[in-house]
Amino acid sequence: MFDDINDLYQQVILDHCKKPRNFHELPQATCSAQGRNPICGDQLKLFLALDGEKISDISFTGSGCCISKASASLLTEFAKGKTKSDVEKMFGQVHEMVTSGKVLGDVGKLAVFAGVHKYPARVKCAILSWHAVMAALKGESKPVSQFFQSHSSELKPDASLSANG
Ligand code: ZN
Repeated sequence: MFDDINDLYQQVILDHCKKPRNFHELPQATCSAQGRNPICGDQLKLFLALDGEKISDISFTGSGCCISKASASLLTEFAKGKTKSDVEKMFGQVHEMVTSGKVLGDVGKLAVFAGVHKYPARVKCAILSWHAVMAALKGESKPVSQFFQSHSSELKPDASLSANG
């Protein structure tokens, strides 16, 4: 059966996979974090420039599957100009959506990931960039290079994934 909504969602994911938005380093970043998903081979770095509570700019680099890249691309589109608490709230909504398929509230374009819950192997791909952005927010105001030196070995997105279910 042809499904218009799913077809549209796939087109959005493919578009962001092929042409990821905000895909570059951010020299003025005030915080950053890496995310790795060894099961799939996804590796992402998120860069954030914080202005108080507001995310004035955000970008990412790395490599990975289509889902992980599209997820990071759509995350950066969403998060730019938002506050830390906006992103924390949306993390909860996206986590619920990709694990159960339930869409809570208005998630905008991020709704394209609602179908991911049917493919348990891809859930970590879809949520990877969200764990990275949360880690980056917790490490705010530290220079990127120092953050990597002092914290990179502590960043284990998979451990937090299994802890969160
Ligand atoms: Zn992946």
